[in-house]
Amino acid sequence: MKVRAQIGMVLNLDKCIGCHTCSITCKNVWTSREGVEYAWFNNVETKPGVGFPKEWENQDVWNGGWERTKKGKLQLKMGGKLRILANIFANPDLPQIDDYYEPFDFDYQHLHTAGDTKHQPVARPRSLISGKRMEKIEWGPNWEEILGTEFAKRKKDKNFDEVVQKDIYGQFEKTFMMYLPRLCEHCLNPACVAACPSGAIYKREEDGIVLIDQDKCRGWRMCVSGCPYKKIYYNWKTGKSEKCTFCYPRIEAGQPTTCSETCVGRIRYLGVLLYDADKIEAAANTPNEKDLYQAQLDLFLDPFDPEVIAAAKAEGIPENWLKAAQRSPVYMMAMEWKVALPLHPEYRTLPMVWYVPPLSPIQTAVEAGHVGMNGEIPDLKSLRIPLRYLANMLTAGDEAPVVRALERMIAMRAYKRSQNVDGIEDFEVL
Ligand code: SF4
Ligand code: SF4
Repeated sequence: MKVRAQIGMVLNLDKCIGCHTCSITCKNVWTSREGVEYAWFNNVETKPGVGFPKEWENQDVWNGGWERTKKGKLQLKMGGKLRILANIFANPDLPQIDDYYEPFDFDYQHLHTAGDTKHQPVARPRSLISGKRMEKIEWGPNWEEILGTEFAKRKKDKNFDEVVQKDIYGQFEKTFMMYLPRLCEHCLNPACVAACPSGAIYKREEDGIVLIDQDKCRGWRMCVSGCPYKKIYYNWKTGKSEKCTFCYPRIEAGQPTTCSETCVGRIRYLGVLLYDADKIEAAANTPNEKDLYQAQLDLFLDPFDPEVIAAAKAEGIPENWLKAAQRSPVYMMAMEWKVALPLHPEYRTLPMVWYVPPLSPIQTAVEAGHVGMNGEIPDLKSLRIPLRYLANMLTAGDEAPVVRALERMIAMRAYKRSQNVDGIEDFEVL
C-alpha cells in the first residue's frame, strides 16, 4: 500500500444558482491578464448545452475517440508515444479560439461620446484580442442559456443521447436545465501530465494539485488536446499553457480556494482524501466503463483505519493532513454516503472534483408533497432532470448510483423539513 493524500472538492449541484460569482472571482485573481482573456479556469455551464469550449464532452471531436489495444486496454486513438510523436509535428485536436469565444469588452466611451441620435446610444462590443469594434458577437460561454433542451436536441450535448431524446422529445413540459460549474479535476491519472513532451506538468506529492512549471513549458499544447475536460488554456501572449492551480498559495495558508470562499450558493466543500497509489493504473484500466466509478471509489482508504494511519505516517504524510482526512466532507459525501459522483469517469483520468446530482423537482411535485415535504420518499420520476442524463454525465451511464444519491438527498431533505424550528437539535448540529 502506497498512501498518498489528495485534496478534492465536492460541488452540490442541487444548490448552484448559476450566478457565476465563482468564475468572476477566479478570473479576477488568476486570468485577468493579457493572453488569457478568453480563459476561465472556473466556468459554470448551462446544461443541457455544448459547454465551454464547445463540445468538450464530445471525445470523438477532440481526441479521435477511444480504441482498445490488442491487449484489451482502452486508450485514446493514436495513443501513447505514437500520439505524442505525431503531435509534435501536428497537433490536430486543438480547440480554436472560436470554440471558446472571442473575448470582448464593451466600448463604454461610446456612450459618452455619441452624438444626438433618434435612439439611445449603445455600448459596442470590442475584441480584447484585436482591440477592434465587433459588428456582432457570435458565441460565448452559456450561449445556449434558456434554450435548454432545444439546443441539446441538435445532438451536440453527448449526455443527451437517444434515450433521453425519446423520453422528452416534443414534450414542452419536460424541458429542463441545470448548472454545471467546472474546474480542473486535479486527476489522479492526469492525461495532461502524460501528454506533455517537456515534462512541465506535474502532480504535487503532498496534496495532488496539478501544476504547470512555466519555466519548463515550451508551448507544445499537447496538454490542451490531451485533457479530456479541456481545462488547460494556452496563453497566446506568453506562449505557454496555464491551468487552475487549486489556489495552492491559499491552500498552503490554510484558506479555501477563491471559488469556494466566494460561492454564493455555498455549494463547494473542500477536503482531503487518502488513496492507494499502487492501485491507480489498474483502476484507470478497468475494462468495463460502467465499473469505473466503483473502481475510483475502491482507491480510497479509510482515514480511521490504524493500518492506513501507520502507512500514511511512514510515507511522511503530516499529522494535520491525517486529521483533515478524518474530518473531510469530500470523504463523507463521496465515499461514505455516496451522494457525490465523479464527472465523466469514462475518461479514465480519475477526476477529483465530485458532484452531488441536482434533485430539480417540478414545482407541482413539491406542492403536491411528493418531494419529501412530509417525510415521504417520492417517485423519482417526479424529478425533472432525466436520470439517464445525469448518469451519462456522472457514472458512465449507470443509473443505479445516481438513484442512490438522489434518494439519499431526498431523505435528507425530508428529514430537514420534518424538523420543527423549535425542535432545535437539528440546527444545533449545524
Ligand atoms: Fe490535467 Fe485535465 Fe485532469 Fe486537470 S482535468 S488534471 S488539466 S487532465
Ligand atoms: Fe454556482 Fe456558487 Fe458559482 Fe454561484 S458562485 S454559480 S452558486 S458554484
